[in-house]
Parts: sequence; C-alpha cells; structure tokens
Amino acid sequence: MSRRIGVIGSNMVDLVTYVDRMPEAGETLAAPRFAMGPGGKGANQAVAAAKLGSDVLMVTCVGDDLFGRNTQSSLAAAGIDARHVRIVPGLSSGVAPIFVEPNGENRILIVKGANDALAPEDVENAADDLRGCGLILLQLEVPLRTVYAAIEFGRANKVPVLLNPAPATPGLSMDRIAGVSFFAPNQTELAILTGLPTRTADEAGQAARTLLERGIGAVIVTLGADGALLVEPGGIHHIAPVAVRAVDTTGAGDAFIGAFAHHYVGGHDKLTALRQAARYAADAVTRPGTQNSFATAAEFALFCN
Ligand code: ATP
Repeated sequence: MSRRIGVIGSNMVDLVTYVDRMPEAGETLAAPRFAMGPGGKGANQAVAAAKLGSDVLMVTCVGDDLFGRNTQSSLAAAGIDARHVRIVPGLSSGVAPIFVEPNGENRILIVKGANDALAPEDVENAADDLRGCGLILLQLEVPLRTVYAAIEFGRANKVPVLLNPAPATPGLSMDRIAGVSFFAPNQTELAILTGLPTRTADEAGQAARTLLERGIGAVIVTLGADGALLVEPGGIHHIAPVAVRAVDTTGAGDAFIGAFAHHYVGGHDKLTALRQAARYAADAVTRPGTQNSFATAAEFALFCN
C-alpha cells in the first residue's frame, strides 16, 4: 500500500476574540485579546498525519487574501504537498470568527468562503497525484458534489476512502457514499444519519451496524472520552479510552482521524492504527488549541512511553 495520504477538504482560519462581554446591537466595545490559528477539518487532519511523518497531499481552496497565503505557508511548514491548493479570486478564505467570554462560553460563526468553491474539477486536476495515495480523507465542510466525486474517484482507481461525515449534513446521500472503505462519525453525527439512538457504546454499535448493510466497509465511531468503536462485518471492537486530564477537546476528532490514517498507511492493521489514534487524540486534548495541540512524531513517542 502507498504511504501517501490525500486529503480533499476544507481549511479555515480561526479568529478568536476574547471578550469581557458580547456587545449589544449598535454598541462598540474594546476587547482584551485576539488570537489567530489555523483550522478547518481537512487541514487539521492533514496536519495531524504530516506531523506524525506521513507524506500528505492536500486538495483545497483559499481566497486571494492574507488568510489564504497564511494557510498555504502553514500547510507547507507542516511539510504538506500544497501544489493543489487553488486560489479563488473574488472569494474570501474560509474563516471562523469566534468570541470567547470570561466563563469560557463561545460563539462561533463559520464563513466557508473559498471552501465552497472546491469542485469535482479540483479532484480531477489532482488525479495523477491522488491515484498514488494509499488512503483519501474526506469531510463535509466542502460541497457534497465534490465529496461524491472524490468517492467515485477512489472507487474507480481502487484507492480506499475514509469519510468523516462532519459537520452533520442532512442532505448526505447514503447511496452515494456506499462504496467508502471507512465511515467515521462521532456519536451525534451517527444519530442524525441513522435516526437511531447512540447514547451508549452498545446503541452506537447497533446503529453503526445498519450502515454496514448499506455497503460501507467499516464504521469507526468516536465516543469522546469513552474511546471509539470499530464496527465491521466480522464484529464490533471497542477501542479503550486513554485517561488524561483534558483541557481542550477542540479538534480531537481530527487528531484521531489524521493519526489513524498515518498508522494505517504505515502498514498497521485497523485495530492497532485505531489504538494509536486514541493515544494521539488523548495527548492532543491535554493542550489548548487545535493544530497547535497536535504532537510531532517525537512528542508522540514521548507520550506513549
Ligand atoms: P471534535 O468535533 O471536537 O473534533 P469529535 O466529536 O469529532 O471531536 P470525539 O469523539 O469527541 O470527536 O473525540 C475523538 C477521539 O478523541 C475519541 O474517540 C477519543 O479517542 C479521543 N478523545 C476525545 N476526548 C477525549 C478525552 N476527554 N480523553 C481522552 N481521549 C479523548
């Protein structure tokens, strides 16, 4: 199997303003602090796998603005092949203005911007490079038609595809995603997609089983601090959680998927790759931030010892 990972998905820049309180309509208020950080589910997963040492290719769109240039350089700094990052004139880059109040409560706006321009043609333009990948990672922060085109590309070229159906998107066609090798929802996404209860691991396992009947190879359900499940035609396996003191779980799912992809294309069996993913995500939640909280291979080796 090729050790290369292709990520077809989103990038965002988090614009975090820490406020004493939210302003009223029409009011202008000074805020004490501002911070910027790279994000977006696609970029997060790509960065997690690249930090662990994988060879990662990213297909994504940015606006012709300073955030876009910043994203290009932050992907390149992580060692990601950014030749298929397309600059879209006339659109802003994807940004997430976030307001955090002193009690930690946050309000988040998502402006998808250029992420909405990622098209089936972008998949086609990267075809020669994607064909050489051992796994393609997809999420749902880009248009569904592009996600379907990428799934079809994987099927036609025999490249396994992992679809992380996040954020939960009501219009997702289960028929069009049937061929994916891995489907990786969290409990909430699984409940919305199947219409079944997923509060306990048992319930989540039963709900995931119904997806196997629809032609999905394996379902990976992340259960937050309770670990994860691998649901396959052969049975259900529980991946035990790794006990840590969590300080910020933002991006835990992306850390988990990036790390799973890294270990899977590295030749590990699914269960071993998932156990490593649970360790990697547990380590990430012990630090604040998203991509900044993801460990390098050396840092992860220290955590595992
Ligand atoms: P997010 O949307 O914040 O990225 P998610 O909902 O997609 O997260 P989760 O199920 O919350 O994903 O977490 C993904 C994985 O991270 C879990 O399967 C688990 O292995 C690990 N994890 C998350 N929270 C914790 C925690 N508090 N302690 C240990 N491991 C955790």
